[in-house]
Amino acid sequence: MKKKKITVIGSINMDLVTKVSRIPMVGETVMGESFYTTPGGKGANQAVAAARLGADVSMIGGVGDDVFGRELIANLKSHSIDVTKVGIFPGISTGIASITLSGGDNSIIVTPGANHLVTTDYLLKHKEAIAASDCVILQLEIPMETVMMAASIAKNHGARVILNPAPFHQLPEQLLNDVDYLTPNEHEQKQLLLSLTERRKEDIAKKCIVTKGSRGVAIYKDGEEEIPGYRVEAADTTGAGDTFNGALAFALSEGFGLKEACRFANAAAALSVTKLGAQGGMPTRGEVEDLME
Ligand code: ADP
Repeated sequence: MKKKKITVIGSINMDLVTKVSRIPMVGETVMGESFYTTPGGKGANQAVAAARLGADVSMIGGVGDDVFGRELIANLKSHSIDVTKVGIFPGISTGIASITLSGGDNSIIVTPGANHLVTTDYLLKHKEAIAASDCVILQLEIPMETVMMAASIAKNHGARVILNPAPFHQLPEQLLNDVDYLTPNEHEQKQLLLSLTERRKEDIAKKCIVTKGSRGVAIYKDGEEEIPGYRVEAADTTGAGDTFNGALAFALSEGFGLKEACRFANAAAALSVTKLGAQGGMPTRGEVEDLME
């Protein structure tokens, strides 16, 4: 059977992680204990999650013409993701997240760089790929106008649209209409509800799959219903939501009903938190099915 096409339109970042005993104050220099780089960006993470499960994934995004950009494209390729629609933009840096970890605390600087050059003009060059998709996954780390246009093209061509509203931004009315599913975490859900009129809340809630960490998710089709998570030994919850989104898109494209797709995505996300790094531990379909047995 032909594999279903999933297109992810979103961010591609390199995460630069430094561990320190203490986060420096303004003007201060402290010695780091260790340093590593690891691929990230919500778009890229969600693409890798879907591809690991066996989906036919294409990524639309952008990197700079620099060493991180080349490494990130190679990483996507190593997961069999189609990178022909990832732009290499000269004169701008690849997106990075500079993360300082100190015990349980962290401070983070995100520099979007090339992610902000994923404009509506750039997107229009790849309109056909979006139109030919079974499912499109979006997040909010590229310009809002691009996200809106992508959702609109997808909707007009009958592709399912999943929007992970992270990091949270106010969502334009048209975008809310064009998406099939919204996947906020609890924090984003609060902000989303605050941004809606009373009248809209009920309609939008029906599109929501709210992720609740180890507790799993809640859906609101006919009143609230919880779909519990899987119990695992958590090592690093970074990227749990991204794995959930990639797996949800995969499961829905495979024809699973909403609840079964959420169960599947809960299991995939649970497995991902057992390993370090956002993309570390993203499971194969077989590994997810083993956990679900
Ligand atoms: P985000 O990473 O976006 O903040 P959540 O923390 O809600 O999102 O996690 C997303 C999903 O990952 C959850 O709905 C659940 O399926 C899974 N998950 C997250 N943390 C754990 C955990 N400690 N144990 C098991 N599953 C988890």
